[in-house]
Amino acid sequence: MLTGKPLNIAIIGGGASGALTVIQLLQNINFPVSIKLINKDQSIGRGFAYSTNCPQHLLNVRTNNMSLFPDKPNHFIEWAKKNNIESLIEKSGLPLEDDFLPRMYYGDYIHDTLNEAISNKKPFIDFEIVQKEAFDMDADNGSYTIKFTDQSETKADKVVLAIGNFLPTNIPIPNEAFYGSASYIRHPYDSNLLNAIKPDEEVLIIGTGLTSVDVVLQLKANGIRGKITAISRNGYLPHHHVEKVKHPVYIDGGANYSLHEALSVIRKEIKAAGSKGMHWPNVIDALRPFNQKLWIGFSDKDKKLFVRKLSPAWNISRHRMAGAIYNKITALLNSGNFEIVKGGLKNLTSENGRVRVDLNTKDTAHSSIYVDRVINCSGPQTDYEKVEIPLLKNLVAKGIIGPDPLRLGINATPDGAIISRSGATSPTLFTLGPPLRGILWESIAMPEIREQAEKLALILGRE
Ligand SMILES: Cc1cc2nc3c(=O)[nH]c(=O)nc-3n(C[C@H](O)[C@H](O)[C@H](O)COP(=O)(O)OP(=O)(O)OC[C@H]3O[C@@H](n4cnc5c(N)ncnc54)[C@H](O)[C@@H]3O)c2cc1C
Repeated sequence: MLTGKPLNIAIIGGGASGALTVIQLLQNINFPVSIKLINKDQSIGRGFAYSTNCPQHLLNVRTNNMSLFPDKPNHFIEWAKKNNIESLIEKSGLPLEDDFLPRMYYGDYIHDTLNEAISNKKPFIDFEIVQKEAFDMDADNGSYTIKFTDQSETKADKVVLAIGNFLPTNIPIPNEAFYGSASYIRHPYDSNLLNAIKPDEEVLIIGTGLTSVDVVLQLKANGIRGKITAISRNGYLPHHHVEKVKHPVYIDGGANYSLHEALSVIRKEIKAAGSKGMHWPNVIDALRPFNQKLWIGFSDKDKKLFVRKLSPAWNISRHRMAGAIYNKITALLNSGNFEIVKGGLKNLTSENGRVRVDLNTKDTAHSSIYVDRVINCSGPQTDYEKVEIPLLKNLVAKGIIGPDPLRLGINATPDGAIISRSGATSPTLFTLGPPLRGILWESIAMPEIREQAEKLALILGRE
């Protein structure tokens, strides 16, 4: 159909998920449509993950699994070759397809692919980037009015909430006033804040996951000589990638497993692999195509148990660092200039121009330490009832969206159709990527997001 009123589609959030949904729409829609990509800043296609300009921040997925398109596995490799990325990076000894490239180039890749899709768009498709913050939205008879902070508004027939990742929440401590201090950095991806740290300052990082690793590398690349201490309850750093060897499928894709059954199959496979001298990470990676299905099949009780008890171990095993990063972090740990303390945060107090950190830890040498800066890398806030973002607060208050039962994201179907607070599944309001964490568990990395964007574009493209 090439006549009639165009369908209005608005995508709120222009990070990787929003940009990729637009790319899919521009490439595949065959009738008049007007698409608006709404993003509050200039980081189109990049978001938190790919806005970094620190070359030490590497992808944690190999080049050969980072294509934006499920049906074109070599797309990113080809882009990297065309742009001669290998000549710009530190040599890792790995061939390009198995390497972990700096994230900033992945941001360039998304940017270039979006621009190409815009240049090649069909004449009956209107596309516009709206650089504004959406702060509210009304739903009326199947149509939406999106309101911006500058008082302007726009209408849409279908909306995608591609709002992605949030900042970490402040850890509850008696002295909450500390969080207003200039010594505290809540935004671990804000390079300007990290670059303002002076070379001799000592730093406490709350959290020991991949974001903490990023921050340590960035601080060291900036010439910070002061000691860096990272704390977490388990004291675990993420594991590192090993040589990739394709592991055979060992899960029955058609069967439903309880958590207990799934764990027992995985443990057995890891043991068998170990006895043959094979690496366990490849056993975990072989599960990836089945992770969402396993998760959807678990009972609510199993899901809660997994989140509470097993997710820390899963996260460090599943989301691993590149070998080159592991070597750097190990060298820093060995030098004594970076230290990990197992414990919980008790309090933070400004004292004589420094920060006194009180910890709940068995390690008595660290129950009280002094630093100059505290950086929160404790992981994104996921509870939509607590998120301080105006748009989401308003949508939750109106019941247009609600938290999923695990409070890891937005309540929705596995296809991303949003389920309102009253339990109605919307045919016109969708989400993808990190907000689907509670529904799919495995929903934050590009190999999953690219599949979601492709399917979502098909659903959005239905007249
Ligand atoms: C540090 C980091 C490293 C990662 N590394 C990898 C990796 O190596 N490999 C991999 O596969 N995955 C990786 N991931 C995971 C994954 O790629 C990201 O989670 C993904 O980029 C999510 O993109 P997104 O667009 O959903 O969210 P975001 O990147 O958070 O983007 C959301 C966008 O929406 C905008 N926005 C939000 N609210 C509004 C509003 N109200 N109005 C207007 N605009 C709004 C924001 O400004 C932002 O630009 C990483 C994630 C992080 C955080």
